[in-house]
Amino acid sequence: MGIVRNLLLRASKSPFLNHQASHRAFVKRAVKRFMPGESPEEALDAALRLAAEGRGTVFTKLGENLTSLADADVVRDHYLWFFDQLAARGVPAHVSVKPTQLGLDLSESACAASLEVLAAKAESIGTTFWLDMEDSSYVDRTLALYRGLRAKHEKVGICLQAYLRRTPADLEALIPISPTIRLVKGAYAEPDELAFPAKADTDQAFFDLSVRMLEAAGRDECRPILGTHDIPLLNRIIERARDLAVTDGAYEIHMLYGIRDGDQQRLRKDGRTVRTLISYGASWFPWYMRRLAERPANVWFVMKSMVG
Ligand SMILES: Cc1cc2nc3c(=O)[nH]c(=O)nc-3n(C[C@H](O)[C@H](O)[C@H](O)COP(=O)(O)OP(=O)(O)OC[C@H]3O[C@@H](n4cnc5c(N)ncnc54)[C@H](O)[C@@H]3O)c2cc1C
Repeated sequence: MGIVRNLLLRASKSPFLNHQASHRAFVKRAVKRFMPGESPEEALDAALRLAAEGRGTVFTKLGENLTSLADADVVRDHYLWFFDQLAARGVPAHVSVKPTQLGLDLSESACAASLEVLAAKAESIGTTFWLDMEDSSYVDRTLALYRGLRAKHEKVGICLQAYLRRTPADLEALIPISPTIRLVKGAYAEPDELAFPAKADTDQAFFDLSVRMLEAAGRDECRPILGTHDIPLLNRIIERARDLAVTDGAYEIHMLYGIRDGDQQRLRKDGRTVRTLISYGASWFPWYMRRLAERPANVWFVMKSMVG
């Protein structure tokens, strides 16, 4: 793993750096590149702008690893309010949450109950509810939570990470329940025995897993979402989708707000289904450190923000 990536991912877990960075105006200016604003209203306004050009949205409120179940209830209630906002303002959006944001570290059953309430709410307004995937210590529990939701709801999705060696087996085990899967490369620091240390291996795994999902989509057994900004890789996968006669509407491409925006617009114009993941909220530090770690050149933007 690159030294800078490793340092940034370690920094993402530091309460001291979190406190320092969250109060620095220049860091806040740099973060603006990846989020329209901390408030839900700013996020909703940005989604309506994207909707005008035919792009959908996935929302997530930043925050993870809570320390009390009362805090998890506040998060659940926030999302209930947020679903009402989506319906009232006619925003074509999904919602994605981190299980630890709903108390997974504290009580698996309380977390499952909150997720069920949110999945039912999403269903009531006709939209899709997603589970993000966090570090490898959460994968088994997140898969179990997903199975519980999928048993009751059609429009629920889960993220799988191509860098994990276990993911092909996890995908095979999910296909019998006709899952909706967002495939990403993976954003956490993981040991070599669990995740590919070489980026080329992760990229190849992403391609192979995507092809497997597309084949299943051709039989209506999976709804694949390609969560990547890697354009050459996406082009190869789109070509394979054509070979497999999987129609454009049968899979989606999701990217993060502020990254490869021109490509997001072009893909949409080319007829692909594109969604932009918009994050909002004040707890952006660990999430922002992961964005820096994905592309250490981004640290340059933080430096420029110190002076601009
Ligand atoms: C919709 C969505 C949801 C996600 N959900 C999860 C999740 O639940 N769990 C999880 O572990 N990870 C998640 N991720 C993050 C993911 O794991 C990767 O860390 C991230 O997408 C970067 O990898 P990449 O596929 O874009 O490919 P890379 O090969 O890393 O990047 C390809 C190109 O994209 C651009 N790019 C990528 N990242 C950045 C960046 N931060 N800043 C500027 N340019 C960049 C660069 O031009 C780069 O050359 C999600 C990503 C997306 C798009």
